[in-house]
Amino acid sequence: MGIVKAEGPITSEQIAERLKLARATLRPDLAILTMAGLLEARPRVGYYYSGKSLGEVVASKIRRFKVRDIQSRPVVVGDQLSVYDAIITMFLEDVGTIFVVREKGLLEGVISRKDLLKVALGAQDIRVLPVSVVMTRMPKIITTSPDELAWEAARKLVVHEIDALPVVEPADDPAGALQVVGRFSKTNATRLFVEIGERR
Ligand code: ADP
Repeated sequence: MGIVKAEGPITSEQIAERLKLARATLRPDLAILTMAGLLEARPRVGYYYSGKSLGEVVASKIRRFKVRDIQSRPVVVGDQLSVYDAIITMFLEDVGTIFVVREKGLLEGVISRKDLLKVALGAQDIRVLPVSVVMTRMPKIITTSPDELAWEAARKLVVHEIDALPVVEPADDPAGALQVVGRFSKTNATRLFVEIGERR
């Protein structure tokens, strides 16, 4: 890297000569540095420094993913569903966040585990109490869209200290309602992190 930074563009023969190594010995190292984006190669010109730090290269790789690439199927219920049934839905669907929608899948609210725990501790009958009483409602809901960077969506989870975001698209609705098309959760973000770490 030092030689290329100081003298680039420089051919692999010239680098090998400086290091007193065979050109073939250098080949895998040059291939890795080029693939990582730290060096760039031009045929018949040689290698030159891309000007990007390792951090910038990693960040640009992470920013290639959109929400649509990793989003999950949303679990949605109507606002008249009882708190009891919402708890059952959470177990059956194995999710920690449920979205509440009205007709045509338009976003109305979000229910988390603690929203349900809190009301279950109270004296009300959760078999008749509707989820509309405990949910966080529009317009307070933090959302993402299929075209947003997965990194930006993950950042929203961290900044707002929440577990999931509804993935929405504008609905054909004069009042600006949003249609729920997916779910982006901490699990999606963690999976992406693991996948990027496993890549070669
Ligand atoms: P937990 O119940 O496990 O703490 P969260 O941290 O996701 O789960 O939820 C904390 C609070 O934030 C709950 O009251 C929930 O209704 C609300 N909440 C969850 N997701 C969102 C969201 N996308 N936008 C706005 N509020 C949310």
